[in-house]
Amino acid sequence: MSTSFKSAMDRLKANIRDVPDFPKKGIVFKDITPILSNGQLFGLAVNIFVERYRRKSVEKIVAIDARGFIFGGAVANYLGIGMSIVRKKGKLPYKSHQTDYELEYGKGTLEMHVDGVEKNQRIVIIDDLLATGGTAEAAARLVEKCGGEIVEMAFLVELGFLNGRERLAKYPVFSAISY
Ligand code: AMP
Repeated sequence: MSTSFKSAMDRLKANIRDVPDFPKKGIVFKDITPILSNGQLFGLAVNIFVERYRRKSVEKIVAIDARGFIFGGAVANYLGIGMSIVRKKGKLPYKSHQTDYELEYGKGTLEMHVDGVEKNQRIVIIDDLLATGGTAEAAARLVEKCGGEIVEMAFLVELGFLNGRERLAKYPVFSAISY
């Protein structure tokens, strides 16, 4: 890891705020809004993904509801490619694929438009944080229902102690910052 890359990571990590007992008792929520509200830090975070995928022939970003949209949109725009969105049930207007999932603090259903990804399209899935991996695994299932090829799953933050990586073992996983 280069010194400048490491110091960028350290600066980002120093600006992630721990919020204990949100949204439920016992959960320490990793609040990334201090990064978003500083132009330089937000740029640093987006740039980590842009540099990583610039030369990997990625054709589309699939971003996960809701904070994944923030990074996914910026990264797709820098890479000059499109983005599709994975949303919680009932939010998408058009015909959608659906899949159930579990997460660190709840259960739900995720959806993506049936034309969100094309067959064999090279996809990077982006979210802000990897916890147990349930959400990302569900997003991957939606991409696969459309016939997309998952190049990598990318997260700004990974909670390593929740073993999300093991759950996503069949996919390449990248995270910028781990705990
Ligand atoms: P999981 O499916 O368990 O990997 O949970 C990941 C999803 O839930 C991501 O969309 C995160 O934004 C959110 N999430 C889960 N745990 C946390 C946490 N401790 N802090 C912030 N976001 C979280």
